[in-house]
Amino acid sequence: MTRDGPRRPRTTHPVPLAVYAGVRGPELLAAIRASVLARDGSACAYCGQPGDQWTLVLTFAVPRSRGGTGAWGNLQVACAGCHDEKGEQTAVEFASRRLCSSLQTLRRKLAGSSGGVI
Ligand SMILES: [Zn+2]
Repeated sequence: MTRDGPRRPRTTHPVPLAVYAGVRGPELLAAIRASVLARDGSACAYCGQPGDQWTLVLTFAVPRSRGGTGAWGNLQVACAGCHDEKGEQTAVEFASRRLCSSLQTLRRKLAGSSGGVI
């Protein structure tokens, strides 16, 4: 996650040509993964951890179980930790919960260092 929440896909990056070239199966998945990695700067959409096709997994911003589609714009790459923690949450829900958790931690730290007055 960046300071401003989950990174949004760059809309100017073209959808992989393999989608239009009749490529199917594992080759299509590899082409889509490579394209999403390139689009998203080869880093986890949530924590920014850099990675590659071996360390980052494709995930859905809106999970399919929640009505998300397999459209290229709904795909993101995430590290294993963020992917597991996100689960069936949408990207916005996940980022919001993380932000709230971070703020609560900061509030506790500030309360501890100020004698409980913040
Ligand atoms: Zn991550």
